[in-house]
Amino acid sequence: MSLSRYHQKRNFKKTAEPIGKINRKKSSKLLFVIQKHAASHLHYDLRLELAGVLKSWAVPKGPSLDPSIKRLAMHVEDHPLDYGTFEGIIPQGEYGGGTVMLWDKGEWVPQDEDPIKAYKNGNLTFIIKGKKLQGKWKLIRLKTDEKAWLFMKLNDDYAKSQKKYDVTLREPNSVKSKKTLDAIAESSRHVWGKQGLETTKKTKVKKKS
Ligand code: MN
Repeated sequence: MSLSRYHQKRNFKKTAEPIGKINRKKSSKLLFVIQKHAASHLHYDLRLELAGVLKSWAVPKGPSLDPSIKRLAMHVEDHPLDYGTFEGIIPQGEYGGGTVMLWDKGEWVPQDEDPIKAYKNGNLTFIIKGKKLQGKWKLIRLKTDEKAWLFMKLNDDYAKSQKKYDVTLREPNSVKSKKTLDAIAESSRHVWGKQGLETTKKTKVKKKS
């Protein structure tokens, strides 16, 4: 587990994203995050804490609560745990330039006896305890492509028909600030200066009260 690819892709003098480091905390709760990311194409970044980093997948269509729908999830580089609270702007011209919204956040509970082994085998089963996503989910790696996985809801009380309930349309806004992507882009315009994430945090605390 290493963040070297995460660091290679970013200029931290220009982006407010956290530098981050591998963080082996003692708490047994594992962070679950989905960030809605308006970059060159809108997508949803699913992140699951595993072995001190956030394992990350870019899901172009976002999650579906419908067990008959499997969403393509492209594995991307590991992100630092700090990234799990990031909402704001990545400057244009930087890697992933655009607006990042914290779309859902909570914990995930592995249902495999050894989640690291299950991850390496490309077949993870887990419960999500988020604000928007809950219940049992699965990630399966395709045999044809190392990077391509499928993210899908399993059948339980939290499953819903996509036709009746499209979670990305019904719940479009930030779980952290309740803002839309446009509002985050507006309010964060002054933030992506030299102070980066520190300034972002202060601005948000003020706006909430
Ligand atoms: Mn992304």
